[in-house]
Amino acid sequence: MCGALRPSDAGKKAVLMGWVNRRRDLGAIIFVDVRDRSGVTQVVFSGEHNAAVHEKAEELRNEFVIAAIGTVKLRDADTVNKNIPTGEVELVADELRILNEAKHPPFLPGDTSLANEEMRLKYRYIDLRREAMQFNIELRHKVALAIRDYLASQGFFEIETPFMTRSTPEGARDYLVPSRVQPGTFYALPQSPQLFKQILMISGFDKYFQIVRCFRDEDLRADRQPEFTQIDLEMSYPQPERVWETVEGFLTAAFKAAGHAIKTPFPRMDYDDAIRQYGIDKPDLRLPAFTEVRDCFTPGDFEQLAINKDLPVVAIRIPKVGELSRKERDDIKPMFISKGGARVFEDFKRIESKFPDAGAKIRQKAGAAPDDLVVLVVGSAQSGKDDHPAGKRKVTPAELAIYASAGLLRVALGQKYAAKHGLFQHGDFRFLWVTNFPMFEYDEGDKRWVAAHHPFTSPHEEDMDKLESDPAMVRALAYDVVLNGTELGSGSIRIHRQDIQRKIFHALGMTEEEAKSRFGFFLEALEYGTPPHGGIALGLDRIVMILAGAESLREVIPFPKTAAAKDLMVDAPTPVTAAQLRDLGIGIVKK
Ligand code: ASP
Repeated sequence: MCGALRPSDAGKKAVLMGWVNRRRDLGAIIFVDVRDRSGVTQVVFSGEHNAAVHEKAEELRNEFVIAAIGTVKLRDADTVNKNIPTGEVELVADELRILNEAKHPPFLPGDTSLANEEMRLKYRYIDLRREAMQFNIELRHKVALAIRDYLASQGFFEIETPFMTRSTPEGARDYLVPSRVQPGTFYALPQSPQLFKQILMISGFDKYFQIVRCFRDEDLRADRQPEFTQIDLEMSYPQPERVWETVEGFLTAAFKAAGHAIKTPFPRMDYDDAIRQYGIDKPDLRLPAFTEVRDCFTPGDFEQLAINKDLPVVAIRIPKVGELSRKERDDIKPMFISKGGARVFEDFKRIESKFPDAGAKIRQKAGAAPDDLVVLVVGSAQSGKDDHPAGKRKVTPAELAIYASAGLLRVALGQKYAAKHGLFQHGDFRFLWVTNFPMFEYDEGDKRWVAAHHPFTSPHEEDMDKLESDPAMVRALAYDVVLNGTELGSGSIRIHRQDIQRKIFHALGMTEEEAKSRFGFFLEALEYGTPPHGGIALGLDRIVMILAGAESLREVIPFPKTAAAKDLMVDAPTPVTAAQLRDLGIGIVKK
């Protein structure tokens, strides 16, 4: 192992096998750093010590695979390299075998500057040799192992479910696999094992988990991949708290495996409170919450500023941003995405000079120090009455529009000024459970209610009777686990009764026939004695990305796809032969 030699090994014989990481030819002496996944050790080929081996070492080039056999020696004090664990020793070579030569690679694993990402993905095997990637992939292994161990210790079985299945209900597009033996029919790759894990509860396995690949054909962003890995679990007879405890348990184990202690239980927050305080259902608790400052203005102020006094007036505070230039203030405007007529006052200094009373009150109420950035988000005076179908909700759609506009701006400002406020430190992990989501969302385009989660999520027991009469007010027994503004996972207590499942399908506007043709097998299974059950799924890639402090999921997935859903190394997807298409009974239509 190239990273394992220590001063106590001095005098011993050793064999190092690995790649030539770097070669320095000083004439009479050649130094070669040999690298494997455990680290690097310096090997010395000295003409004086062994002329034949020294001569052979002249052939060595970067990324050759070699075996060096020799004696471990302490380095002279002035040549000790404190930056690496093997820096106090070196191997004096008696023998050198070149196990394989290497073409000069397009970039070197030891390069200090990173190659462009296309290059890295095309030559992924070289990229994966880099220390940072070796670290990330090992971290991923350790995290997954810790999760498996923890869940197994709690009585969960890891059970596999099919990849070739039928369309599942997570709401994205399916990846389809054509059937050759039944031409014209298709399997779908699972968007999640949702229905299988529920069926495993009906099958009597009471605690299931799986670290499993899921496939969703959707537009990709930095934190999305067409195939990604979930820690999927399901259990029989749980209250939500049991699911939360289980998740907190395996996350504790996972974070410990990565060297971090986390505190449990995680705080919990109602969806409505998350919206009112943070304007988003995945609050980043590292930044201050909003302050509602409506009461800091007089009726006259509202009029002059054309603020709607019946809607929230939200102060966003970002600490320690300091004085902003005119241009920096102007830059805030395009960061603001207005929903429902929401407006932004990015120049708080102007409010303070024109409305000194209100300004002082706001500063005080928001606890804003002189160098904190304060930005206000308000409703416009003309925003109309709320006759929306969800108008009776605790947070009305008109209020939601303001909170949501402010929420996005808060996140964007938090990111932009991260270096100034210094609140985003690696290792500061703020977890949160968000609960009591609304069961339905109103689709403005289709003018109908749609499931906010997948349609197997159970409504609150007390809200059952409102399913048809007042869908806006039905809460779901659903929960999300959030970390530093990222949704790590979501789950729910499920519907376990066939009559209620039918009712939900009906409330979602699905006809009896549609429900039967899509989920008939499942509705039937529910009729054969289904225990109450619930579960959750968390994104493994995201967890590892956060633990690695990485910017993108691609840094923690060995063979990821690009934003255009391509694998640049194997060059997929590709056209297939006419014979393959003929076999499948498929013709290609040019779009
Ligand atoms: N199947 C859900 C998802 O993939 C998670 C769950 O409800 O357990 O998001």
